[in-house]
Amino acid sequence: MAHSLDLADPLAHARGRFRLPDGIVYADGNSLGALPAAAPAHLAHVVESEWGQGLIRSWNDAGWIDAPAQLGARIAPLIGAHADEVIVADSVSVNLFKLLAAGLTPRRRTIVTLAGDFPTDSYIAQGLANLLGNVTLREIPLADIVTALDDQTAILLLTHVHYQSGARHDMAALTAPAHAAGALTLWDLSHSAGAIAVDLNAANADLAVGCGYKFLNGGPGAPAWLFVARRHQKRLENPLSGWMGHARPFAFEPGYTPAPGMARWLAGTMPILALAALNAGLATFDGLAPAAIEAKAAALTTHFIDRVAHIPGITLATPRDPAARGAHVALAHDHAQPLTQALIAHRVIPDFRTPNLIRFGFAPLTSRFADVETAAATLAHLIETQAWTNPAYHQSRKVT
Ligand SMILES: *Cc1c(COP(=O)(O)O)cnc(C)c1O
Repeated sequence: MAHSLDLADPLAHARGRFRLPDGIVYADGNSLGALPAAAPAHLAHVVESEWGQGLIRSWNDAGWIDAPAQLGARIAPLIGAHADEVIVADSVSVNLFKLLAAGLTPRRRTIVTLAGDFPTDSYIAQGLANLLGNVTLREIPLADIVTALDDQTAILLLTHVHYQSGARHDMAALTAPAHAAGALTLWDLSHSAGAIAVDLNAANADLAVGCGYKFLNGGPGAPAWLFVARRHQKRLENPLSGWMGHARPFAFEPGYTPAPGMARWLAGTMPILALAALNAGLATFDGLAPAAIEAKAAALTTHFIDRVAHIPGITLATPRDPAARGAHVALAHDHAQPLTQALIAHRVIPDFRTPNLIRFGFAPLTSRFADVETAAATLAHLIETQAWTNPAYHQSRKVT
């Protein structure tokens, strides 16, 4: 069954763009994308030739200075943006700070967000509110989000695909009431970009951020990206007004003038080696249509849910409708943490999210239906044998 699904999979060839260890089922592409096969040679070229031989000249000759905009343009088709609406910079956390600060106005000082979204989003909003003193952060349950929007609301901040449940918001359906209230929307696409088809401009979205190291395969700690719709680009300003966001950084003028377009969202000098790895990660998407990627994510996660939902002790924490989820499936279990360690010991790599979730991320470019089958069978076996009782699987680790 899985074998015939893999044979019929129009994205099956994409797996060849990666280097994966033999005998492992990698179900954590939602936390760290796999190594692109082209990355080691590309990094070696950038280090040895561009850095080693080109030295300082490579800022111009190898185009280092334009890398953030060029990589942003490569991300744009994956998220329904124009090439000049996306730039690569900093981390998601820092980009959230920049865009939240920029979106506040003298009269609108409230940020509305969903209670229980990814903590960094809320931590950053809290820090910004503490810094400015007159900003209110409202963390609201889903059912009350729309009624919470009012004439004080500057920004509706939402994670498009929830990091735990994998539940996906209808972007257009939430952007419309935000606009009706006079607010901007800021979407965190960390678990969406590269996993499902996103269309920011079709939804009339205003602002967005996202991760480079998850489904975009940019490598551990890869730079993040941000999106500002064209209609806002002249007005919104970066509070981290560093020289790389200046209109003329090498004029060394005493006063700050923001660059036109997305370059103003840069602050300091870009991490060229990390950008080289992200470049290799984005190249794994060449020629692949976002709709095909989403269809594969839906098929993989549906197959997995069909195999695991009935296992005793398991509760599905992810929506059953593929259009209402991303590319990962979260399963609740009373012994989720030691079970996750047992799975890893049995060569199936998901991750654990407190308090009781095992997350299986099936990156559409690398995952096979056979992997889904192995993951489900291994999970069923470990639950049947009560693997969580083994003390070896009760280690405390910094990263789960
Ligand atoms: C992974 C993730 C982040 C990561 O933020 P960084 O500052 O880049 O580490 C932010 N938001 C969400 C929703 C995430 O899933």
